[in-house]
Amino acid sequence: MEIKSGCVVAMHYKLTNDEGQILDSSEGREPLKFLQGAGNIIPGLDKAMIGKKVGDAFEAVIEPEEAYGVRHEQMIQKVPKSAFQGVDELQVGMSFQAETEQGPVPVKITEIVDEVVTVDANHELAGVRLTFQVSIEEVREATEEEKAHNHAH
Ligand code: ZN
Repeated sequence: MEIKSGCVVAMHYKLTNDEGQILDSSEGREPLKFLQGAGNIIPGLDKAMIGKKVGDAFEAVIEPEEAYGVRHEQMIQKVPKSAFQGVDELQVGMSFQAETEQGPVPVKITEIVDEVVTVDANHELAGVRLTFQVSIEEVREATEEEKAHNHAH
């Protein structure tokens, strides 16, 4: 059967960026299962699945808008070191939960200059064009339970 909304799909995949760096892969693991059309995977990949069948192998290049979104400059902020009380040594690459009016948001330190720390709340893959190498391992109708839960079992 061909993949359409309401199918459960199992796929093997390899995800790379424009530099050819492998960001994620299902190699050595069970294939990733998802419910098609339910927002389980990024929108661009969801679209690329439509009409594919078991045994199909293909490449999908997904622009940031259809993946993890574009980068927002306003999500990058400079804060004083004193805001990180209780942390022994601040380092670039460290992640924190920032308390905001909208609740906790994960942020990452991207730069430290003297007493000023730059933190970035953008998703790690925001602004990144993604290339997926996909092979379809299984396609079946979702059960009523899976549809109700909005994910694959
Ligand atoms: Zn469930």
